[in-house]
Amino acid sequence: MTSVTAWNDLLVGEELAHLSTEAPREARTAPVPASLQPAVREALARRGVEELYAHQAEAYAAAQRGGNVIVTTGTASGKTLAFNLPVLDALAADRHARALYLYPTKALAQDQARSLGELGLPAVRAAIYDGDTPTERRRQIRGWANLVLTNPDMLHIGVLPRHDLWGDFLHNLRFVVVDEAHVYRGVFGSHVANVLRRLRRLARIYGAEPQFLLASATIANAGELAHALTGEEATVVEDDAAPRAERTIALWNPPLLDPELGLRASALGEASRLLAGLVGQGLRTICFAKSRKSAELIHRFASDRLDAATAARLAPYRAGYTPQQRREIERRLVEGELLGVTSTDALELGIDIGDLDCAIAVGFPGTVASLRQQWGRAGRRGHGLAVLVASEDALDQYFMREPPALLERRVEAAILDHANPRVLDGHVAAAAFEAPLDEEDVATLGREALERAPHVPELRRTQRGWVWAGKDAPAARVPLRSTSPDTFLVVDASTGDVLGLAEQERAYSTVHEGAVYLHLGRQYLVRELDLRARRAIVEPFAGDWYTQAKKETETSIEEALRVERRLGLELSFGRVSVTEQVVAFQKKAVADGSTLATIPLELPPTTFDTEAVWFVPRPHQLDGLEAMPLLLSSLHAAEHSLIALLPLWAMCDRWDIGGLSTNLHLDTCAPTVFVYDGHAGGVGIAERGFEQFGGWVADTARLLEGCPCERGCPSCVQSPKCGNLNEFLDKAGALTLLRRMLDS
Ligand SMILES: [Zn+2]
Ligand SMILES: [Zn+2]
Repeated sequence: MTSVTAWNDLLVGEELAHLSTEAPREARTAPVPASLQPAVREALARRGVEELYAHQAEAYAAAQRGGNVIVTTGTASGKTLAFNLPVLDALAADRHARALYLYPTKALAQDQARSLGELGLPAVRAAIYDGDTPTERRRQIRGWANLVLTNPDMLHIGVLPRHDLWGDFLHNLRFVVVDEAHVYRGVFGSHVANVLRRLRRLARIYGAEPQFLLASATIANAGELAHALTGEEATVVEDDAAPRAERTIALWNPPLLDPELGLRASALGEASRLLAGLVGQGLRTICFAKSRKSAELIHRFASDRLDAATAARLAPYRAGYTPQQRREIERRLVEGELLGVTSTDALELGIDIGDLDCAIAVGFPGTVASLRQQWGRAGRRGHGLAVLVASEDALDQYFMREPPALLERRVEAAILDHANPRVLDGHVAAAAFEAPLDEEDVATLGREALERAPHVPELRRTQRGWVWAGKDAPAARVPLRSTSPDTFLVVDASTGDVLGLAEQERAYSTVHEGAVYLHLGRQYLVRELDLRARRAIVEPFAGDWYTQAKKETETSIEEALRVERRLGLELSFGRVSVTEQVVAFQKKAVADGSTLATIPLELPPTTFDTEAVWFVPRPHQLDGLEAMPLLLSSLHAAEHSLIALLPLWAMCDRWDIGGLSTNLHLDTCAPTVFVYDGHAGGVGIAERGFEQFGGWVADTARLLEGCPCERGCPSCVQSPKCGNLNEFLDKAGALTLLRRMLDS
């Protein structure tokens, strides 16, 4: 049993930035719909489901009306049943009906397949069809299964280009389920939006109009996301009727060691102290860290604080564990053999450990949705404790001072742009390969696809429409996680495995020779960057430094698409061209961020087109800041802090955003600040900043105002990715400028 007093003793001191309790909530229920197929009703009854939560019934009713639905209720609120009901009902009623389930990871597809199997419905023939499915099984699945679980990559290169093999399935396709829809944002989301449009088009060619059922974490724009992903409207079901246990929320800020420099005690140390304290009281606790190294350190520090018997009940939980190993850890936790687990947050999607007492997030995981997912592990049945231990990152520190910005506002929106030509063109080619492209396809692929067709090489106009004239299947050339065909492969020399891709425009700054590269929470050292073979050769790395690239950046304005008067100045959104040249990198100590060495690099410049928001402050807004280098330092500091806060408004990583500030820009002939989308073509992040400019600037000014440092620190104006290595930054000047803008 959870004892509240057990953690009360721990949650004291100046480190406690916020403490609140979310009240428990009763379930609001609705009867199991009478129209549901008897076999499905019986299966539910066997599982002990006598009634539904109101939102599950609402989702079922909306699906029965024939439209698309997106369910966006909280963690563990039964979203799965909400989209399963209409599907199971249809499969039980019509043995020809087919459904396709899309999961972002194989582990999630496996979990869903298992729980579908446990329902024991004879009418449901579910099968996973992914890269691991043996060839001889594939044909069998296509013929036999009426519910196929797969991932976007397999749909993109394995299913759609071979639609002739799937004719029967597509002809009978009634439902497409897109679970974890908020994951499909940014570049990946922009690609998946095109894959789903291609799926709709082929289904239509085979005579079907499938309904889309989506489930997402709680975000600001669920309806918009459903529309952006599928190209169609969807009913939003968001009124969460699931019961909720009481939950205590604590925001924990490591103590300030040096107020002048803004230096704080280590978040890992604080997290291990809390973990040891909670476990010492017999509370089952999971701790999420950003990297495997951090998770291991927390595990070790916490073990050191405990007696041997208790320490033996702690375990790390790693990426790469087999499903059996994961189940084993889950079982030991559930049975109380294990008390504490440390994990990287890269795993958060693939695990399901319910019924823990406490969840500690070490460092803001990047989105409120992810944080809620991590916190959701705590106290599903009884009173739980959810903690965020802040890192020194600006956004973390902002939340410590402005808890309502984290706990009450819902501003974070999942952004994507399927029409980015850098993304779209590959799918136009793939669509033309799948079937000749003509005016009729505007209904599914969108007008933009037809407009791009003449610009796509290897497409030929014929009487039947645009057709593919190339040799190989074009989809295989289009990676779903990049906007550029010129990607570098990141290869682990010790195993030969391909770890990931680096887009050309970012490869030179992230996988240059000597760079420390992070993948799924593990560290690698780049041995060699082969520009010709487009390959970065890396090896596992255990050192305690990280690297930061020094680069020179220039922007030129290609076209202003939207110009508006905001905050007393002219704010623009449009297309820009960005040229970057990486000239050196620094090795920095993990412990304190101190510079160990600066090493020059010789790399060619790269240029890419993208979208940006930019502004030219008015002379009175810069009054007293005009002298150099104060002018540049003020603009530069404003740019950094704006970039740090943008992920609060647009779900993205600060690494997805770039910036440039200059005292004199060649195109505007004035001091100018640019914030641009770091992916070629842009995926909508800059435009979201344009639209929410007022709120964004207000948040940024509060960030600067509240930071206790004297002249700028990593928690306000310094950036871990600054191409100038954080030189020329004036916090006071930036705050003056932003305040004047807000007062305009
Ligand atoms: Zn500061
Ligand atoms: Zn900078």
